[in-house]
Amino acid sequence: MSNRLITVTQPFLPPLEEFIPYLEEIWKTRRLTNAGPFHWRLEMALAEYLGVEHIALFASGTLALMTALKALGLSGEIITTPFSFVATTHALWWGGITPVFADIDPNSLNLDPKAVEAAITPRTTAILPVHVYGRPCDVNAIQRVADVHDLKVIYDAAHAFAVRDSGGDITRHGDLSVLSFHATKVFTTCEGGAIVCPDAETKRRIDLLKNFGVADEVTVLTTGINGKMSELQAAFGLLQLRHVDAAIRRRREIDTFYRRRLEHIPGIECPPLPADIVWNHAYFPILVQSDYPLSRDGLYHRLRERGIHARRYFYPLISEFPMYRNLPSAAPTHLPIARDVAKKVLCLPIYPALKDEEMDAIIGMIAETD
Ligand SMILES: *Cc1c(COP(=O)(O)O)cnc(C)c1O
Repeated sequence: MSNRLITVTQPFLPPLEEFIPYLEEIWKTRRLTNAGPFHWRLEMALAEYLGVEHIALFASGTLALMTALKALGLSGEIITTPFSFVATTHALWWGGITPVFADIDPNSLNLDPKAVEAAITPRTTAILPVHVYGRPCDVNAIQRVADVHDLKVIYDAAHAFAVRDSGGDITRHGDLSVLSFHATKVFTTCEGGAIVCPDAETKRRIDLLKNFGVADEVTVLTTGINGKMSELQAAFGLLQLRHVDAAIRRRREIDTFYRRRLEHIPGIECPPLPADIVWNHAYFPILVQSDYPLSRDGLYHRLRERGIHARRYFYPLISEFPMYRNLPSAAPTHLPIARDVAKKVLCLPIYPALKDEEMDAIIGMIAETD
């Protein structure tokens, strides 16, 4: 193995020559942003690829989340998971909404619908679950809770690009779903994101919100924000999309390899593949149990010393960060399962360019028993 650090993920970069024609077109048209031709082409291409009707592109997943909350006019309290990337809860805070944390399910690692129901108060307006690692939430149970209590559901689907259940793309669930196209995600536009919308009217409202609320030269209809994706990002996305199936196939091979080899290592548990799902293999989480010879942090540091930067996604829990830890719902006793998982989890490197011998070496390091 070379001396380079192997990180948990690495963006898939198609051959540079393939990007040149896109750049030539941008130089020719001089359109850099503001709903240019690549922006529309990527929206159409993504809608077709995912099999959804309406999608609105954004400059980042976080801006898309913030705009989704505005588009639904949400306020008060929103119930969410502490086991996610901090942007999920930050989006609520930026919208003047009080986050209420509920515990996760030990199998799906996503919000437990029963814990959600128990967290509802008269101020609750919505649920913000995350399909963590691209593993689908219990969408039916969550919708039942939402229907009974008249709540909106916004899915943070940042990890769930191209994840399908038996009925189609996972982003069709809830009132809105938000994707991230950050460089660390399965499909990337460097920075970027999108909202999957249920109908044309909702998309029109969201497109207005992401463009300052500006309808035409003399008309501003609402207090919008600048969430627009540029032409360079959109062009990069179109190129990525040509290769994303191959990238996911390679991720699947890595997943299969890890899973087979880790089966025989006592104390290492791989959360089972989600059932009846076409998964994107966005992450490869393992749970380091107490019968493994090292603690999770011990294993993390051993790998780190040998050039493997596995990541403790998601540790600390969002509810443990200083700006949230004084919320009543952030009390450690309220979130026992999330705390337990955050203490045990480690995400191994998984990305298309990861080499067979690197996968093999990583497993070798985990298998060492002294
Ligand atoms: C990446 C990520 C985001 C934020 O997306 P950006 O595009 O980086 O702004 C939100 N939620 C989760 C769960 C993420 O992993």
